[in-house]
This record gives sequence, structure tokens and C-alpha cells, in this order.
Amino acid sequence: MVLSKTHFRLLRQRQNLLSQEVLMYQRVMEGMRRNISMEALFKLTIRSVQKGLGFKRCGIFLMEPGGKAMILALGVDKRGRFERGKDRFPIVRRRGANAFSDIVNGYFRFFFTNDLSSRQRKGDRQRVPVRSTAVVPIQVGGGKIIGAMAVDQLSAKHLITRSDVASLFNFATQVGMAIQSLQAHEQIVRQSVTDPLTGLANRRYFEKVLAEELKRCEKAGRSCTLILADLDYFKRVNDVYGHDIGDEFLKHIGRLFHATVRGMDTVARIGGEEFALLLPDTPPDSGKFLVQRLLRQVRENPPRLPEKAEPYPLTVSLGMTSYCGGKTDPAKMLKLADQSLYQAKRQGRDRVGIPQVISGKKILSSVGT
Ligand code: GH3
Ligand code: MG
Ligand code: MG
Repeated sequence: MVLSKTHFRLLRQRQNLLSQEVLMYQRVMEGMRRNISMEALFKLTIRSVQKGLGFKRCGIFLMEPGGKAMILALGVDKRGRFERGKDRFPIVRRRGANAFSDIVNGYFRFFFTNDLSSRQRKGDRQRVPVRSTAVVPIQVGGGKIIGAMAVDQLSAKHLITRSDVASLFNFATQVGMAIQSLQAHEQIVRQSVTDPLTGLANRRYFEKVLAEELKRCEKAGRSCTLILADLDYFKRVNDVYGHDIGDEFLKHIGRLFHATVRGMDTVARIGGEEFALLLPDTPPDSGKFLVQRLLRQVRENPPRLPEKAEPYPLTVSLGMTSYCGGKTDPAKMLKLADQSLYQAKRQGRDRVGIPQVISGKKILSSVGT
């Protein structure tokens, strides 16, 4: 068979495209092997699409939980800088609402357009695309669409062709598999540090954070405060109302603590009805102020019992230790906070025990809270 010049050109283009596709896959697979973060995977994908397929801009959109819209997870703005969250496309049943919605609803497998209109208006004879765009789905197993990839070719020299979109489509599926595998890994990591009942940090993770914080404090000469909380007479709650209500109370306390502290603080459930809070950059005075707020929050927000008019008067006892310099370790901090907590229990509950302060070689018990 004799091939014409056009055939040769098309064949070469197709071969180039295929080798670019292979290179793009290799880059993503290499990234996965290195166990990269989701953010790094997105950057790698965008750069691959720009370099490999020559698109000026690329945006990765992910479906919001609930499937109501797709939101820009990471994209590139007109100046080539990364941007996120800016664009949001609602997914609606109506055909023609937007390319994302049409793809999710199965009206199209993908979408692309070469908009020549503004150059034509100026009477320019050369048909140069002013703005070409394409949108392809990011799919995972079973054809489930978890997002979309959108590309832009602003004032580029050539039109987007069907084979460009086919390459993009295949690549997006590969990226979908990579996203799914990273999400599964992130979920496992999240579960290994989370208490399943309350969604707070678990004991293991709390001890790790405490050890790291103490090292940071020793090095930088900073202070921190550790608070332990134990629910008062909680056995009674279970005995009278049952374990399920008891669990609801634990979640309630978790939410209250979480809402009372700052974003940089760590709140954990470290035992059955025991919680721990770690407050970085918190000297004893600020710590004392916070424990009073925690006690007040619990008193003023009693949990509701189903079908009971009166809320249950739940209280907690707290123990507190602050680190203000010198040598220490997590076990010592926890032991001192425990002593403070048991003093609160002995003195009648619904209060904080005498705060213990580690300062240099001394342990000061500061009375008067
Ligand atoms: P105190 O004021 O001395 O702390 O009295 P208490 O009854 O709270 O103390 P105790 O340590 O004797 O009992 C703790 C109870 O917490 C025992 C158990 O019934 C309950 N508990 C522990 N873990 C869970 C849990 O995950 N869910 C529920 N519902 N209850 C739990
Ligand atoms: Mg207890
Ligand atoms: Mg208790």
C-alpha cells in the first residue's frame, strides 16, 4: 500500500500523541510509586497535560460529596499560577446546563469546542482558534465519574482535534484510578489516627502529637498545656439510660470540646469516657482560663435525652499540667495531669484539680483556680 503525504503526516501525529500519552502515564505511575500527596498528583497531572498535549491551561474538578456540583480542586490561571476552589459547576438534570453536567448525565462522553468567532468578526482571513476548550470525565471502576478535567487553549495555533480529546480522555481515566487509590490510602491513614465514635484524635495519635509538641517546646523555649477530662458518674448514665445514650453523650462532649478550643489545639478521646486536650503555646494562666471555660460549656450545654423534657446534668472533672521549660516527657506530663484530675474527683467532681506546672527542675502546684 502506498501512503500519501497526508497519511504519513497523520500517522506521525498519531505516533507522537501515543508516545506523549505513554510518557504522561509513566509520570503519574512514577508519582504513585513515590507515594505522593493528592496535591502533588494534581500538579503532576496538570503539568503532564500542558507539556504532553500542549494545552495552555488545565483544571482538575472533583465532585462534591452528595454529587450536586463539581468544584475546581486545582487549576492554572491565565498567568500560569495554580488556583483552587474558584469555579463550581452545578450538576443538574437539564440538558445543556454546562459541559460537566451533560457529561455526568450521560448526554455526552466528552465535550470540546473550537471557538473562532472573535477573529472572524474582525475580518481576519486566517482561521485561528481564539478559545478552544475541552472537558473529559475523570472516571474510576464501573465508569463512575468522580470529577472532570477541563483544558483551555487560549489563542493557540491549532484546533483541538478528536484525537487530542481521546488522549485526554484516556489520561483522565488513568488519573481517576490514581486519585481513587490515593483517597483509599488517605482514608486508611485518617482511620488509624481517629477515634471512630467521636471523630476526634485517638490515644495513639495524641501521644505522638504530645511527644512532638514537648520536643518543640524544649527546643524553642515555649510553653504548652495538657488537659485531661473524665466524665463524672458516667457508669450511671449507661446503667440508667443504656449504652447507646451513653455513646451519644460522649459524642456531645467531643463536639463541645472541639468547638471550645482553637484550630491548632488537639482534642482526643484517649479512653472510654476520658478525653485529652493539648494546647500549644499556652502558659498556665491561659490554661486555667480555658479549663474554666470547658467546665462552663459542659454545665451550660447539657445533653438532651430522647423523649425527656429535662436535659441530663452531665459534668466533667479536669486535670491540668503546663510545661514551662526544663526536661520532661509525655508519660510525666500525663501522670501529673492524672494526679490533678484525681484530686478534682476526690474534691467532689465538676471542677479542675490543682494545676501542675513543670518549670526547670521543679514541679510547681499552683493553688487558687
Ligand atoms: P467517676 O466520676 O469516678 O469517673 O465515675 P464513673 O462512673 O464515670 O467512672 P468509672 O471509671 O467507674 O466508669 C466509667 C464508665 O464509662 C464505665 C463504662 O460504663 C463507661 N464507658 C466507658 N467507655 C464507654 C463507651 O465507649 N461508651 C459508653 N456508652 N460508655 C462507656
Ligand atoms: Mg474514667
Ligand atoms: Mg468517669
